Amino acid sequence: MSASTTPAAAPAVEVDVAIVGGGLVGASLAAALAPTGLRLALIEGAAADDARQPSFDDRTTALGNGTRRIFEALGLWSDIAPQTAAIRRIHVSDAGRFGFARLEAAELGLDAFGFVATNRTLGAALRARLASIPGLHLRMPARCTAAQLHADHVELHTDGDTAPIRARLAVAADGAKSLLRAAAGLEAATEDYGQVAVVAHAAATRPAEGTAYERFTPQGPFAVLPLAGVAGDGRDHGGGAYGVVWTVASADADRVLAMSDDEYLAALQQAFGWRAGRFTRVGARQAYPLKLVRADRVTAPRVVLVGNAAQGLHPVAGQGFNLGLRDAATLAELLADAVSASTRAAPAGALSAFDAGAPALLEAYAAGRERDRDGITRFTDGLVKVFGDSRPGVPLARDIGLLLFDLSPSAKQAMSRLSWGFAARTPRLARGLALAVGGDGA
Ligand SMILES: Cc1cc2nc3c(=O)[nH]c(=O)nc-3n(C[C@H](O)[C@H](O)[C@H](O)COP(=O)(O)OP(=O)(O)OC[C@H]3O[C@@H](n4cnc5c(N)ncnc54)[C@H](O)[C@@H]3O)c2cc1C
Repeated sequence: MSASTTPAAAPAVEVDVAIVGGGLVGASLAAALAPTGLRLALIEGAAADDARQPSFDDRTTALGNGTRRIFEALGLWSDIAPQTAAIRRIHVSDAGRFGFARLEAAELGLDAFGFVATNRTLGAALRARLASIPGLHLRMPARCTAAQLHADHVELHTDGDTAPIRARLAVAADGAKSLLRAAAGLEAATEDYGQVAVVAHAAATRPAEGTAYERFTPQGPFAVLPLAGVAGDGRDHGGGAYGVVWTVASADADRVLAMSDDEYLAALQQAFGWRAGRFTRVGARQAYPLKLVRADRVTAPRVVLVGNAAQGLHPVAGQGFNLGLRDAATLAELLADAVSASTRAAPAGALSAFDAGAPALLEAYAAGRERDRDGITRFTDGLVKVFGDSRPGVPLARDIGLLLFDLSPSAKQAMSRLSWGFAARTPRLARGLALAVGGDGA
């Protein structure tokens, strides 16, 4: 099976694991696998210093507590933390209606529900780490153009006149339109939400003080998240910095993008109200068409899907990266354990005796990720659909549901679990434990 065929000119580079895509999830996986001693390759289409790197743009990402733990265990959190804003309170409301709910981290025994960082901040920390992983065969910028699946390896071709890469295991971390997923014959169902997220940084007269707002409107959800530092024109005028994720119907996206700053600020003020005081400045706006993309299966022989290549979600509850990072943490743990268990009597040079693409490992990965993927995907998709439903009686039921939720400690406890994911077993990295190779590791 192959996406297309490219003749191999130079001898292949042989590795245990090749990661296609060095975005948020692929780069994190490389960092997690670094201590295993496995021979690693990473292929990333965008250059390290490319401001248009699609994964490391100006989006704001809400990182759950499980994600913070993983970054701590990878030694990356100390670089990221100073540039994050903690979410200590979440305010959920149904625009123009009476229903709302408040969640207080302290009431649930948490320091914070999560932390907001820009993707640029995460990208800078991850890129610096990629540059320092010993022995990593890093092809960046290089696009993977073809993948050929064989019984004992996958051969990956990249653009430019370079040698192919032969890997015992090829990991698709190349996003929702994954080339490797298609080459492996893994089907993905796609559902267009008919919505576009317009993302911007904005400044307002009132500081966020740890409150994140999620407001459901007839056009789609609308999130206003606390941001570290300053927003809008890059200067500190006091007040608060916010990341705004404004979901609009696809037909309205061009109109919102074409607004002048003043028009956008007025529309934002009207849609959001005055909880943040007066919105005073806004930075560049970017648009993301929203689709649910879900692979039927996350493995094929010698191929594994992680992150958006496995599932691309609506950003409504800020779960996509958190879930994708747990994919990476689980896969890294299985590989580290397999390395520990293996005798690894490998001759130098050719592919080692250790088989990173062994069927049992792939099966364990698929089984280990099923519940988390399913739970988070259903939760996210359900939120979009319930709050987008304006049939008679539904908005009222929704408001009553929000009020009951506001009064119910157990429902809030259940929500706080989102911060950790629904995996039957939390990956060791997400419990803050580094992956030890050689010992029992657990
Ligand atoms: C508006 C918005 C807000 C969001 N907010 C949140 C949030 O608050 N919290 C959260 O957890 N998630 C959030 N998400 C989701 C999150 O951004 C994604 O889940 C995350 O980016 C997935 O990372 P990834 O590395 O799997 O894929 P991507 O980010 O798509 O990265 C894929 C990488 O692969 C590279 N690539 C692609 N094809 C090739 C190829 N053929 N060869 C080489 N390289 C290739 C690309 O250059 C890219 O670097 C949000 C998403 C959106 C759209």
